[in-house]
Amino acid sequence: MERHQYRVVITDCDHGSIEEEKEEFGRMGAELILAQVQEEKDLIRVCKDADGLVNQYALLTRRVLENLPKCKVVSRYGVGVDSVDLKAATDLGIIVANVPDYCMDEVANQTIAMILTLIRKTAFFDRKVKSGEWDFRQGIPIYRTKGKTMGLIGCGKIGLEVGKRISAFGVKVMTFDPYLEKAPEGVELKDFDTVLKESDFISIHCPLNDSTRHLIGDEAFKKMEKKPFLINTSRGPIIDGKALIQALEQGLISGAGLDVLEKEPPDSQSPLLKMENVVLSPHIGFYSEESISELKRRTAKNVSDVLMGRGPDSVVNRKVLGKTRASISD
Ligand code: NAD
Repeated sequence: MERHQYRVVITDCDHGSIEEEKEEFGRMGAELILAQVQEEKDLIRVCKDADGLVNQYALLTRRVLENLPKCKVVSRYGVGVDSVDLKAATDLGIIVANVPDYCMDEVANQTIAMILTLIRKTAFFDRKVKSGEWDFRQGIPIYRTKGKTMGLIGCGKIGLEVGKRISAFGVKVMTFDPYLEKAPEGVELKDFDTVLKESDFISIHCPLNDSTRHLIGDEAFKKMEKKPFLINTSRGPIIDGKALIQALEQGLISGAGLDVLEKEPPDSQSPLLKMENVVLSPHIGFYSEESISELKRRTAKNVSDVLMGRGPDSVVNRKVLGKTRASISD
């Protein structure tokens, strides 16, 4: 029987195939096990001899991590690492890595697709034509994009990509982002109220946290003087769902494009489902065949990097550096 120097366990994953992972670990001659387990006791049983873990949803609690004496690295598919007890991992010298930027193009394109769908009313007309109606007047009014203003709430990796794309339509771009010291090229840095007041389109690209939950609520809607289209491809609870429905009903905004909702999936009775000026998608912004393949490859590479003595591309628990179980060069 072939003896492997390293053992890597994929705790769980719902991607359908693990070809990219097999390729990455095959190259370094590591044994790869797809466990598909969620329970603490099962995780401990299948992972106890692992040198590294790849993880999707299974909760890697302190108890689990404390029972993995050889584990040097946990790499999570995606950006968020809520499934891993970061403090415990750091205490134990286990590196936790993620892939923060595998789907910037996809989310930016989803945002632009939603804006154009709203402005040109493409989904609306599609429904009309397919139901036998052929009358462009049903969609009046439609306005030009050129000369309009886009307000980005948050201008990090995705916001910046959206800004670049929408600029090509002749749209001026401004952002409210309290953590940016200087404005990125082509973007004006403004305060929150100015962005709300002066934007024809508002697109949300900040993370969800205590200070952004319900950032867009009753007060914010009242300040949107230009009745903008509002797009959210970030996280649902950044918009107060009740306030959004009211703002749409009262015409405070012209429409909404929502890839994410406060409640996913929405209730079948949600008024959003009946509104002609609301475009919805099922939290699909991250997805393309290429983005998933890149995610799988880079998640696996984080583990192989550590086992081969290299620092991974993105370490989440940076405090672990200097006291890792693995000997890596930073
Ligand atoms: P990023 O970290 O590169 O950028 C986030 C930006 O938001 C930063 O510039 C930060 O300074 C800013 N910010 C933080 N707090 C803010 C606040 N209170 N107000 C305004 N700006 C604030 O992140 P990113 O890669 O651009 O991703 C943005 C968000 O997109 C993620 O947090 C995630 O929730 C979401 N996302 C959604 C999908 C999807 O499938 N729809 C996929 C990936 C990411």
